[in-house]
Amino acid sequence: MIPIEKKDRIYDRDERYSRQIILKEIGKKGQRKLFNSRVVIIGCGALGSTIANNLVRIGIGFVRIVDRDLVELSNLQRQNLYDERDIGLPKASAATDKLRCINADVEIEAVIEDVTAKNIEKIIGDMDIVLDGTDNMLTRFLINDACIKHDIPWIYGGAVGTQGMSMNILPGKTPCFRCILPNLPKAGSLPTCDTLGVLNSIPTVIASIETTEAIKILLDKNNFNRHLIVYDIWTHEFHSINIKKNESCECCVKHNFQFLKSELKTSIIKLCGTDGFQITPAGSNKISFKELKQELESIGEVSIDEVLLKFKIKNYEINIFRNGRAIIYGAEDEKTAKSLYARYIGL
Ligand SMILES: [Zn+2]
Repeated sequence: MIPIEKKDRIYDRDERYSRQIILKEIGKKGQRKLFNSRVVIIGCGALGSTIANNLVRIGIGFVRIVDRDLVELSNLQRQNLYDERDIGLPKASAATDKLRCINADVEIEAVIEDVTAKNIEKIIGDMDIVLDGTDNMLTRFLINDACIKHDIPWIYGGAVGTQGMSMNILPGKTPCFRCILPNLPKAGSLPTCDTLGVLNSIPTVIASIETTEAIKILLDKNNFNRHLIVYDIWTHEFHSINIKKNESCECCVKHNFQFLKSELKTSIIKLCGTDGFQITPAGSNKISFKELKQELESIGEVSIDEVLLKFKIKNYEINIFRNGRAIIYGAEDEKTAKSLYARYIGL
C-alpha cells in the first residue's frame, strides 16, 4: 500500500468536512476542536476498526491505535479495516497504513504492544479520551484505574453474540467501571467470541455509539449518555440502565488502583478466537532480530521485517516482537507454548 505523502495533498479541509460542519451539533468551531483533540483506541479488532475508521474520517487530529495481535483469516468476517493482504501483519500497523490513505490530515500512531500495568499510564497519559476496543476484562480494569487516576474520560464498549454494551466513564461525573463490576470476573465465566461467536453487525453499532459519545465529550456537550446501554441487534431489545456510584468503590472513591499495582511477571494467555498463545516476558527486553535470525535460520524458516520476526518450525509458528513479546501458533497448550518460547527465544 502506498501512503499519500503530505506534499501531494491538495485537499481542502473545509470541503472534506463540509457535511459535518453544516451539522448544528458540530459546526466550524466544533470541527476545529475535534481537529485539536487526541484520542487513543485500545484494541483494534471489530470495535476498534469501526471506531478508528469513524474518528479518522471525522478529522480527530491525533489518533493512537494500540493492539497486540496479528491479523488472522477469522478476523476478516467483522474487522473491517483489514483485508486478505493483511493476514499475518500486526493489526495496529495494518490499520494505520489503511487509515493514512483515508485521511492524511490526521496524525496516526500505531502501538504494537500488549497493554499492561507497566505501560497503560504512558499510553493514555497524553490523551483527551480513551476508547475501548478490547476483548478482555483485565485490560478494561487497567484502563479504568489509569483513567480515574489521571482524570481522563473513557468509553467502555463490548460485543459478543448478537448483543453489545457501552457506557461512558467520566471521572468525577459518572460512576466508574468498578462501580458496576467491583471485581475481575473469573476466567472462563463470561462468553467470548470464541465460545459464543459474534454477528458482524453488532460491533459496528456499539462502535458507532462509542464514536458519537466521544464526539459529544470532546465537544464538552452536556447531553452525553450517563447510562449503561445494552442492545441486542437480533431481537431489537434495548435497555438503558441507570448505574449508581458505589460509595465504597475501590477505584473512583478510595483511589486504590489495585490493577495498576499488579506485580511484574511473565504472563501467558490464550488469545481470544484463535489457537494462539501470547507470552509477555517480565521487565523490558530488547531483542536483536539480526542475531536471533542467525541463530534460528539453521533449524527453521525465519523472516523479519521492521516490527516482527517470524519463525516457523514443524507445525509451530512463533512471532516475536522487539520487546520480547511473542505470539505462538500451533502449541497444544500453555506449557508447550512456554517451552517453545524458552527453547527458541529464552525466558
Ligand atoms: Zn467506581
